[in-house]
Amino acid sequence: MAIREIVTVPHPVLRRRATKVQDFGPELQKLIDDMIETMRAAPGVGLAAPQVNVSQRVIVVEYGDEEEGIPHRLYAVVNPEIVAVSKETEIGTEGCLSIPGIIGDVERAYAIEVRGFDRHGKPFRMRPYGWLARIFQHEIDHLNGVLFTDRAIRVERVTPELAAEMDRV
Ligand SMILES: [Zn+2]
Repeated sequence: MAIREIVTVPHPVLRRRATKVQDFGPELQKLIDDMIETMRAAPGVGLAAPQVNVSQRVIVVEYGDEEEGIPHRLYAVVNPEIVAVSKETEIGTEGCLSIPGIIGDVERAYAIEVRGFDRHGKPFRMRPYGWLARIFQHEIDHLNGVLFTDRAIRVERVTPELAAEMDRV
């Protein structure tokens, strides 16, 4: 495993629509291992492949919140798609590893259904809610070249120290 460089705005890969993964071979396995290591080192709770300059539809998420009843788990999802969203939305303050020093309030669906494949090509399906659903929405946006600042109803410049205290994705 290796830590890869996280690209930041205005790197053009962050604005590109990432391509679907067709091959679940060793190259994908290495990419996912590296993304996990890079996310943990940042530290962050989610990372999308375009953030390490790979324009492919792969995300990793590692998050849990016992109070919310969300067990701490690591997810690696290939070709993820949001197939359903709740009518209920929630406003939350997000930061992004690719946009240092900026946080913003973003309205997102409270609960979603995600489908895709695990790292070995087996069908993956889950229904995250709360902050976990927010992380998935943020990461899947990255695969479509969308950044949280595009959706934010308010953005704020903060010190890198303050930004680092947040769950970054
Ligand atoms: Zn991000």
